[in-house]
Amino acid sequence: MTGKTMTEFGPPPWPAVTVRPDRPRVEGSTLHLSWTQSGGGPLFRHCHCFIRYPRQSLENLPPAIAWSVFSGLIASLYARHHQELTLHFPEPIPRMALAPWLDLHRCDNVVAGPLKESEAPGAPSTSEPEHIGILFGGGKDSLATLGLMGELFGYQRLTLLSCVFPERSRYLRTVEQRRDRHALGPIRGRTGVRVQKIISNLRCQIGEDASSRALHTGLYHALALPMTRQLGLELVTHSNEFNHYWTSTQPNRPRAGFARSRPEADDFLADALSRLLQQPLSIKNPNFCIGKDGAIRLLKERYPGLLTSLMMCESVTDPNQRWCGNCYKCFQYAIYRLALNLPDAGLDPQTFFAESEWVQDHLARASQAKVGQWLPELSSRASFPAFSHLFHQHPPDTLAKQLSGQAKAHFLALTRPFPREPHPATQAWMQAALDKLAPPRTRQLAAILDQHLPRETARQIQLPWGSHRSHIDYDAAIAPKTVAIETPDADAAFKL
Ligand SMILES: [Zn+2]
Repeated sequence: MTGKTMTEFGPPPWPAVTVRPDRPRVEGSTLHLSWTQSGGGPLFRHCHCFIRYPRQSLENLPPAIAWSVFSGLIASLYARHHQELTLHFPEPIPRMALAPWLDLHRCDNVVAGPLKESEAPGAPSTSEPEHIGILFGGGKDSLATLGLMGELFGYQRLTLLSCVFPERSRYLRTVEQRRDRHALGPIRGRTGVRVQKIISNLRCQIGEDASSRALHTGLYHALALPMTRQLGLELVTHSNEFNHYWTSTQPNRPRAGFARSRPEADDFLADALSRLLQQPLSIKNPNFCIGKDGAIRLLKERYPGLLTSLMMCESVTDPNQRWCGNCYKCFQYAIYRLALNLPDAGLDPQTFFAESEWVQDHLARASQAKVGQWLPELSSRASFPAFSHLFHQHPPDTLAKQLSGQAKAHFLALTRPFPREPHPATQAWMQAALDKLAPPRTRQLAAILDQHLPRETARQIQLPWGSHRSHIDYDAAIAPKTVAIETPDADAAFKL
């Protein structure tokens, strides 16, 4: 830990840093990672963290897996925040415990050693996964994945991987309790699905100046890795909605959104981890082929029992509250409730629009905005076209008839900046995306989707993003690149 602040360093990338990890330590169900840092940058407040896997013993965790967890969580974060990273491991570690993570993040700025060369054959992925892990946050996307995977493979094959991963250690307990009470408990009761919690203070140790670059899907795969091995998971899903995956924001200027969790990256990581684990593994994001509104429509029509356990709002620390009534996710659900006639899951749009502080705070910006202006406060990049389409289908004037008084006035004011334009892809499922994803049981999945959502066959889609456009090209191939890892010179290693 440096004790220095961001102002002394400026924004990342920060100067070269040298990191010396200690041997990962296992204590019952907990993996402890610790290291020392020399050189600059306020990436971590404290140079240690734990990851706990309740009810599992890690006593037989191979060191190579523990080093891969360290590399996926700690080394890749350092490499992304610093001009150069030098890693001195206390023992030779297999190259394949480090290299895939650096490839995934395209970090070609790493000097690391000592490394063991070991070539392991890949284990072919299976079209009939026996054990499936679902990275489960509880929002509409992972809930829809749960419904689909449960129907396709049977709930008895599924394990929900629930990462309790807050930014402040005082929230570790409340986040876990809240998720148990409102999502995991009811879902387990209804479906019989297994739940494996993964509890970590890693994000609590990350400095505020680093957080914008710190979160990515790869972290969840690294956190889950010991369970991927221990539970023999042959398919691990994550759920990120399709609108994030634009391939350029200007014509002929490739710039991919969520590049590190595209199908190309998932396939790459799955292949690398299957070599390390010596077991078949695929990583798939079913929501890659489902439009923004598709997940919630699917839940409403096909899996209504799951919809009552929806927990989109993440900002609450009171375990008794499902909705905080004061955040963007609550705003989103209030609109869906009005437009799609969703069941009362504890958030009343009348109360929300009349009384929410979030609503009050956003009225001024909304009233000054031009129609068609993208306001990050009112809509994420991914949501903007979906809301525009939703309000095209369900004009706010009509929806407002369900509200009265101030709630009605506030709702109309907040929805005014959205253009009413048709963007049917936001409600469809994308044939080209499913072809690219190639998940197990593709045909059956397509048949389910066909029953609820229109099939979009275009290979290129354009969606508005304020006055700009996002382009989604399913023929684009955006793969991780193999980066070279230099080895530190012998003298430097010797000084350890
Ligand atoms: Zn909320």
